[in-house]
Amino acid sequence: MNKYTILVVEDDKPVRTLITTTLKANGYRFIEALTGEEAILQATSYNPDIILLDLGLPDMDGVEIIRKVRSWSNMPIIVISARSEDSDKIEALDSGADDYLTKPFSVEELLARLRVTQRRLAMLGAEHADTVFVNGSLRIDYAAGCAYLDGNELHLTPIEYKLLCLLAQNVGKVLTHTYITQKIWGNSWENDIASLRVFMATLRKKLESAPDSPQYIQTHIGVGYRMLKVG
Ligand code: CA
Repeated sequence: MNKYTILVVEDDKPVRTLITTTLKANGYRFIEALTGEEAILQATSYNPDIILLDLGLPDMDGVEIIRKVRSWSNMPIIVISARSEDSDKIEALDSGADDYLTKPFSVEELLARLRVTQRRLAMLGAEHADTVFVNGSLRIDYAAGCAYLDGNELHLTPIEYKLLCLLAQNVGKVLTHTYITQKIWGNSWENDIASLRVFMATLRKKLESAPDSPQYIQTHIGVGYRMLKVG
């Protein structure tokens, strides 16, 4: 038996059945909610480990649920959205969702996203107040302000280092362009995605052995970036 409990928020019965059948077959415990109101009630009563959240619900916008849950909990939220809800998806990530799945999705994709989130939970639990971040061959010494790859110091510009730390501190989580630009440059650089892309390219050149098939930093086209947990 898997020790994780998943709250499935989805009003569409066939999709909900697909999700719960998959969870059951893979040993997850789950609870279900068909409306936003039910979702918030279930989240507060059962304190699930992960929420799978459909954005289009009959009584409430999924983004509103994310904001409500975030006011008292950091529990991972994976958003499930239809392709027509693309801008909602970005708003959801900016509001604190951890990851997203676009409908239609495969069962394998759903399970992969759950594993990413579980690894992130396990990492956060193990991290404590560590001042050193380790991911595969990458090591960041926050106290010293240095990053190393295979033991060799990476010569990063201050912006590249800030970008790397931001991604590392959110390993496994998709960060939107707006979120990143606001964190790195403040509001004045909001939506300057072209500049972000340039800095990301130079960072990758130093970090990735094959920048065209990156191992550490994954691009989510039109959305943002995510650092993957390696190994
Ligand atoms: Ca729906």
